[in-house]
Amino acid sequence: MGFQIAIDGPAGAGKSTIAKAAASELGFVYIDTGAMYRALGLFCLRKGINIQSEEDVTACLQDAEVDLDMSGGIQHVLLNGEDVNGYIRTEEVGMAASVVSRYKEVRAGLVGRQQKIAGSQNIVMDGRDIGTVVLPDAQLKIFLTAGVHVRALRRQKDLEMSGKTADLKEIEKDIEERDLQDRTRKESPLVQAPDAVYLDTSDMTISEVTDYILNLAETRMAQGREL
Ligand code: C5P
Repeated sequence: MGFQIAIDGPAGAGKSTIAKAAASELGFVYIDTGAMYRALGLFCLRKGINIQSEEDVTACLQDAEVDLDMSGGIQHVLLNGEDVNGYIRTEEVGMAASVVSRYKEVRAGLVGRQQKIAGSQNIVMDGRDIGTVVLPDAQLKIFLTAGVHVRALRRQKDLEMSGKTADLKEIEKDIEERDLQDRTRKESPLVQAPDAVYLDTSDMTISEVTDYILNLAETRMAQGREL
């Protein structure tokens, strides 16, 4: 097994920004598992599948092949071979991902794929259940969070940077709804793994958080070498 860093936390906590930066510093592969649930959410929206029906979503799984292409160092999410990176970052797709990710068969398929991708590589993987289910033996687990208002402000800034406008109150409402859905679902709810380091980033900059995680990783790697 390679050195695995698992980063979990609620929507908009900055997981992907931090995980990407840490992976790049360490020369590790970065895997964004949320993108896979988003691709499946997109598939259901495009096909007009009733995402509230577990039966309907489960029945369509055999027609939706979700995979990751890591060539060129950037993660591309493939939906039946189509690169859907450009379509999955909307609130609508995020919400659909949150709904379909409740279902047992959905999780079983994607978790298996994620574990296979992780293989024996050195990786940073982020999501909701990485430290608890996908990579339970990860050498470093982080539970990254921040206050709802701060997370909404960050999301609004991201949207504005990509030329979109969004109402702060709306974003806050979406984030709260998604958090509640992810924390209260039956299958693999969002919870902190008992051996994860809790990090509230409300008052921290991206580089402060990244440096903190890099320090922890260096320490754990050195400990591993001593064993
Ligand atoms: O992280 P991101 O916002 O892209 O994830 C979209 C949705 O996918 C989450 O709200 C969550 O419901 C689901 N997800 C999950 N398990 C993961 C990653 C994401 O259930 N490992």
